[in-house]
Amino acid sequence: MKDKINTKIVKINPNNIDCDIIKEAAEIINNGGIVVFPTETVYGIGADALNDEAVDKIFKAKGRPQDNPLIVHIGDFDDLYDLVEEVPENAKNLANKYWPGPLTMIFDKSDVLSDKISAGLKTAAIRFPLNKIALELLKESKKPIAAPSANTSGKPSPTEAAHVIEDLMGKVDMIIDGGSTYIGLESTVVDMTSEVPMILRPGGVTIEDIVKVLGECEYDPAIIKSNEKIIPKSPGQKYRHYSPKAKVILYKGLVENIVEKIIEDYEKFELEGKTVGIMSTDQTHKYYNKKNVICVGDRTNLLTISSNLFRDLRKFDQMGIDVILAEAVNEEGLGKAIMNRLSKAANKTIIV
Ligand code: AMP
Ligand code: MG
Repeated sequence: MKDKINTKIVKINPNNIDCDIIKEAAEIINNGGIVVFPTETVYGIGADALNDEAVDKIFKAKGRPQDNPLIVHIGDFDDLYDLVEEVPENAKNLANKYWPGPLTMIFDKSDVLSDKISAGLKTAAIRFPLNKIALELLKESKKPIAAPSANTSGKPSPTEAAHVIEDLMGKVDMIIDGGSTYIGLESTVVDMTSEVPMILRPGGVTIEDIVKVLGECEYDPAIIKSNEKIIPKSPGQKYRHYSPKAKVILYKGLVENIVEKIIEDYEKFELEGKTVGIMSTDQTHKYYNKKNVICVGDRTNLLTISSNLFRDLRKFDQMGIDVILAEAVNEEGLGKAIMNRLSKAANKTIIV
């Protein structure tokens, strides 16, 4: 973007929210401006969802393709009724259990939402977030807020204000620093308009969680067979995503085999003159006697891995790494979302 905006950076303690800052942020939203705020998933870049000009600024600031629709955030379940044609019974049940939270549901949209938000689709993605700062901003502005992840399109989503500053300084009116996000991966997107609810993007609310409430739920086939040429139902899933500047190689298989192959490839790339990094886990860290090893978390507590993943991918870039060798994790529970992001970030997957 050519014209630079004066970006105001403010800090809010989520446990002691400064109402004056929230008022100022809400005023920016109501005047068609852009505010970046933390959520429990990743940071979001927000604008009044009912103002097309403001929404357009989000696409421009992110460099987001126009065919990738935005998630609309609400601060009260009842706000949903204005935005969508119909709220099916199963959506009410899911909302009862997982809203506010890291769950986005797709509904047939009402005319209140423009084609700009939905990128021309007849449906709209709605989420009721849990983060207190996000909720206060929604309450104060009294507007639904469109807010995709606050990164430059294609890069890893921001989990700290520093990441947002790196990508969006001079492109937004305000950045609210509310500390590190909790889950660290974007919300689960589930299509409630299909006969069986369908996960279009895995996230913090897992398929197991949804099945417990609804009895049934399936994945968009494009998520399961990412190598095949099936068009994903979520436009965002067709783009290369979550990518650091470095090349990422993902290693799948038995953990012992992964470690052995990563050590072998590290040495091979080093001989080629590359600066190599390894993304290890608590369980494997001690086996890599190499430089540039970052431990992403604990295989037995996947929340540690999800919350660190994007931050660590960005760290490798700051270290000037050319190739990141990353370990796959088990795809159960939150592991499905972690592997979805890692697979999209990876230039290559090696099965050992
Ligand atoms: P982000 O806001 O950056 O987390 O991305 C939002 C994700 O939700 C993208 O992958 C979008 O393609 C997806 N999405 C938003 N609206 C819809 C919709 N109406 N139908 C299908 N996917 C959607
Ligand atoms: Mg995104």
